[in-house]
Amino acid sequence: MDDLSLLIELHSGGERQGPGGVEQTQLAIDLSGLRNGRDLKIADIGCGTGASTLVLAQTLNAQIVAIDFLPPFLRLLEQRAQTAQLSDRITTLACSMDALTMPPHSLDAIWSEGAIYNMGFEQGVRQWGRLIKPGGVLAVSELTWLTERRPAELEAHWQAEYPEVDTASAKIAILEKNGFSVQGYFVLPPRCWLDNYYAPMRQRFPAFLQAHVGTHQHAAAQAIVAAEEREIALYERYHGFFGYGFYIARKTV
Ligand code: SAH
Repeated sequence: MDDLSLLIELHSGGERQGPGGVEQTQLAIDLSGLRNGRDLKIADIGCGTGASTLVLAQTLNAQIVAIDFLPPFLRLLEQRAQTAQLSDRITTLACSMDALTMPPHSLDAIWSEGAIYNMGFEQGVRQWGRLIKPGGVLAVSELTWLTERRPAELEAHWQAEYPEVDTASAKIAILEKNGFSVQGYFVLPPRCWLDNYYAPMRQRFPAFLQAHVGTHQHAAAQAIVAAEEREIALYERYHGFFGYGFYIARKTV
């Protein structure tokens, strides 16, 4: 096993693999105007085990293709869809988000919570934008600076982890430059990070570490937990300065 399989193991146990919330997905759906649509075709990219996919399938008259490059997450999503009796509305696709082969203008909406950073916001907006029908929707949550000035320690951390981190005004300018008009923007409240994501993950740390005691993976598992703890501490200390912005945009051409 390598680090990736350890990360899969740690994160498979969670209802979500990033900050978010059912109410926040629903708010973004409200702002998107998709509620009135019929027979919608939607891709949920970087879906993980399906936190947002299930809300979309429950709320909208839509077929949803749930895309992630990690098949173990997709298998769990399929089980959750079955339990929620939503399997007829959801299909899964194991594919990298930067190698999608759907025809241009084939989707009514692209949804992506806490995942577009894996290919970079601007690349994602450009490439995914082509797949969306004119008038269709792009809804993404993305790491965002909430203030013009930030503490140096925080700035250094995120510049190293994700150099595209920026303010909402800069993210909105990228959307506009690439043919989108912003319909809504809001910031995920701290409970989406602390209660919905970090607290459940923290509860999984002891069993996760215990499972690797005495194996050659123990040090790697400890390092993963230590890195997550550092990220949690950073969020607890500095959440006035950064968060996830949720951007809901309509393709204008
Ligand atoms: N949207 C989910 C998961 C967010 S975590 C939620 O909100 O809970 C980011 C997800 O992106 C993970 O499931 C990860 O497997 C996936 N991912 C990372 N890089 C990817 C890539 N290149 N292509 C497709 N999925 C990717």
